Amino acid sequence: MLFGGREEHPVLREVPTNFVCGVSQCQVSGTRYRAASPPDKLTAMSFLARQKKLREQLASSGLDALLVSHLPNVRYLCGFTGSAGLLLVAETGSVFFTDVRYDTQGREEVKGARVVIARKALLNALGEWASSRGKKLRNWIIGIDAEHLTVAERKRLADALPSGFRLRNAPLVERMRMVKDADELESIRGAVRLGATLFDRALEVLRPGIKESEVAAEMEYAARRAGAEEMSFPTIIASGARSALPHGRASQQAIAPGGFVVCDFGVILGGYCSDQTRTVWVGAASGSAGKAARQAYDAVLEAQQAATAAVRPGIRVGDVDAAARKVLRKAGLGRYFTHSTGHGVGLEIHEAPRVAAGQKEVLKPGMVITIEPGVYFPGKWGVRIEDMVAVSEEGCEVLTPTGKGFVAV
Ligand code: ZN
Ligand code: ZN
Repeated sequence: MLFGGREEHPVLREVPTNFVCGVSQCQVSGTRYRAASPPDKLTAMSFLARQKKLREQLASSGLDALLVSHLPNVRYLCGFTGSAGLLLVAETGSVFFTDVRYDTQGREEVKGARVVIARKALLNALGEWASSRGKKLRNWIIGIDAEHLTVAERKRLADALPSGFRLRNAPLVERMRMVKDADELESIRGAVRLGATLFDRALEVLRPGIKESEVAAEMEYAARRAGAEEMSFPTIIASGARSALPHGRASQQAIAPGGFVVCDFGVILGGYCSDQTRTVWVGAASGSAGKAARQAYDAVLEAQQAATAAVRPGIRVGDVDAAARKVLRKAGLGRYFTHSTGHGVGLEIHEAPRVAAGQKEVLKPGMVITIEPGVYFPGKWGVRIEDMVAVSEEGCEVLTPTGKGFVAV
């Protein structure tokens, strides 16, 4: 999955507090893959450690508290997995606000924070809570997830708080989330292993005549059967000329021989995302078209390997991007590589850092990024190969286990 725009989160929307979504859970017997275990004591310790680390950064950031509204950030800090929650982290402790739908779940999941069940919109509950503390909190400067708030939400927040409060953008949690701790790396490894099995399923069904959407459906069904919570994004199966669309979601098009199929897919397991792309050729890769396709494939593979080899602590992400770009330029394909080389992955499919030209973020052990160069010839075909890698002390660990040789089906 390529890096794109940000998605909105509904956490601050005004919803009736007794609204219940029609979500049902089912247990499928005969699961072939053991899903990650639910939060245990060790994980509870991780949440406390994350909040402690954040508290240590408040004073040096000139903040009295951080109001966390972006749900992946909330989950990261206190373990809450629901769809409505606000976490206020202050020097003296943390308070978590949710609504009555999450009374039981909130009390069960949330670690390291006092749980307040709001009978009204969360922002108003927060405002009341702040007002009840009166002068104690006067003139507080509160950090917010401004990247994830709409203008309207920010205004509503300012209106709900008593006068004297000031709001300031503070992406502290995003920065913390870039470096994964041991628990997170374990969850990510699990998600990547499960995600990789979907490509085996794709190869079982991928034949001339089958529709892209049917291939995606088989993969997504296999994912749920194997214990995936959901897909990390709508599965991309793009065949023929559609393979030149970097984000060609599976359509009703029947797959025809004599072209590439780009398969870009991922699952969420234990809250963490996987992201992988493999491109296969349909039919015999013969003649001049087949030869050109194979050459492009080999160049993309070489670029993917060169960028992976460049990943190590202390290197700027822009240099990783440059390593991939250099190979494709040499092969005369530079101008067909139209997107960035990769992105961070974790609780969200796209998170910091962006692995793109000129980006100066320096890699550190524990960061997890994708390496996904591709080339696209509009109207003809495209190729992309994507792995997830974790930055290690020495270099990197390639998490994606699937082979990358040219495959014709
Ligand atoms: Zn992908
Ligand atoms: Zn990706």
